[in-house]
Amino acid sequence: MEGPPDIRVLIVGAGIGGLLLAILLEKAGIPYMVIERTSTFRPLGSAISLSAAVQPLLEQLGLLDEINEASKPEQAAYFYDESLTRIGAVDAVFSKERYGYYVRMLSRPTLYNILLRRIPKEKILLGKRVIGVEQTETRAMVRCADQSVHEADVVVGADGAYSAVRQNMFRELDQRHKLRSSDAKPMAIDQECVVGTTEPLDPARFPIVGEEFSTLHIVLSVDRQYAFWAVPVEDNRLSWIIGHKLEDKDYRKQETFKSSEWGPEAAEEICSKVRHLNCPVSGSIDEIINSTKPSLRSRVFLEEKLFKTWTSGRVVLLGDGAMQAMFDAVSIANHLSELEHNTVEAISTCFQAYYDERKKSAKDAVHGSRQVSTILSSHGWAVDVARKVSLSYVPDWLVRLIRDKTSSVRPQAIFLQRVPDRGSVRAKPTRVSVRALEFCRIRRQRAAAAAALLMTQQQLATKQASLNSFV
Ligand SMILES: Cc1cc2nc3c(=O)[nH]c(=O)nc-3n(C[C@H](O)[C@H](O)[C@H](O)COP(=O)(O)OP(=O)(O)OC[C@H]3O[C@@H](n4cnc5c(N)ncnc54)[C@H](O)[C@@H]3O)c2cc1C
Repeated sequence: MEGPPDIRVLIVGAGIGGLLLAILLEKAGIPYMVIERTSTFRPLGSAISLSAAVQPLLEQLGLLDEINEASKPEQAAYFYDESLTRIGAVDAVFSKERYGYYVRMLSRPTLYNILLRRIPKEKILLGKRVIGVEQTETRAMVRCADQSVHEADVVVGADGAYSAVRQNMFRELDQRHKLRSSDAKPMAIDQECVVGTTEPLDPARFPIVGEEFSTLHIVLSVDRQYAFWAVPVEDNRLSWIIGHKLEDKDYRKQETFKSSEWGPEAAEEICSKVRHLNCPVSGSIDEIINSTKPSLRSRVFLEEKLFKTWTSGRVVLLGDGAMQAMFDAVSIANHLSELEHNTVEAISTCFQAYYDERKKSAKDAVHGSRQVSTILSSHGWAVDVARKVSLSYVPDWLVRLIRDKTSSVRPQAIFLQRVPDRGSVRAKPTRVSVRALEFCRIRRQRAAAAAALLMTQQQLATKQASLNSFV
């Protein structure tokens, strides 16, 4: 067996997906660098729900104990109408018995910091906004707004929903008449959201924050197409989300380009639309919003478009949506860990395999998310019926059946020791790669040899310097 090729990966975007990929490449011994446009790490966001399907991977990476410590297991989600009449409930606690892990709820900033701590500081460059991506037969390059250029063998676009890497890749494919027509269409958004996480709340005033399990409470103001979510997370905090379904197509297109960032701008306008709603937990919605620093309330427009082009030559994209981004990251790392040659052909084949592995799951995720959005926030008699049926009449056995399907794939890194399958519902078997394990071992040896050589060179230089000062 030939040894692994020397490849260097450039990850654009230090979001959840980019950071997880960096941790995986660190473990695989593949050299990488992360570049991020913001100049500081921003503790923004609401709750992230980690399903049982992603937790074997997190356990394998040695992250799970810390995540368990910093999160709450999910018990259930309760749905209410505006008068706070409960219109549905979905149980989540069975996840542990069936798939081996509870669904874990934690705030995005907490998950973000857990990932960030695992990456050596010198491997993340901040304040680098990518504006251009180019490639040749032998290299890929990104250009940043500060005029710097960064080269690598592979560029991974992990830069979120409005990815600059994707826009550049599509522009270049379009110039060569190779862009699929569906990918050329502009994105249309259908939801605007404001999200935040409160400061620690007093459990005497908000008893649900003190509970061991996290129960989600969701008020649907269907006539006005608003939804308010309250999600207990770690440290007696509440994460919250205000979702608003957009109707007007012109407004939708126009806003897409104005608001591609998660940030506090214009959050107040939407907050004011729900402040008066009845609060499903004690206290008021007003109080919950006011317990969140204004700079940490962020507004964002969400769209759910499934692009069909994910890769071109040495450039590849990692999907949006926390779970999808994490699954994409492990799939990319797995395929790179087995790569045998640093040629554009070998890299293209590797990324095509990644696309083939992930495309169905990405399609299901977008489809599922559209259905949830319609059920929760659209109106009309047909949706009203669908909402009633899906929230109140769906029997537990059907909920379990659907979850069994979505939890059947629990991917792991093929270059690390596997964690055993847990739970009564077996995961689809995942592969262990002898080649990836061997490549991983060789890369570590090479890195250790290079570090030893560097140290010897430094020692020699110091000795030489002291000799020179003698003479
Ligand atoms: C600040 C923030 C808060 C969020 N809050 C929530 C939330 O509350 N709930 C939720 O479900 N989802 C939230 N998301 C989105 C969620 O994190 C992602 O959908 C999901 O985690 C997938 O992660 P990702 O790595 O693909 O993208 P993201 O997490 O969006 O990360 C993309 C990263 O790329 C960087 N970036 C973008 N463009 C460039 C560029 N041109 N050059 C260099 N870097 C670039 C961004 O600054 C960001 O750090 C948030 C995202 C961000 C950035």
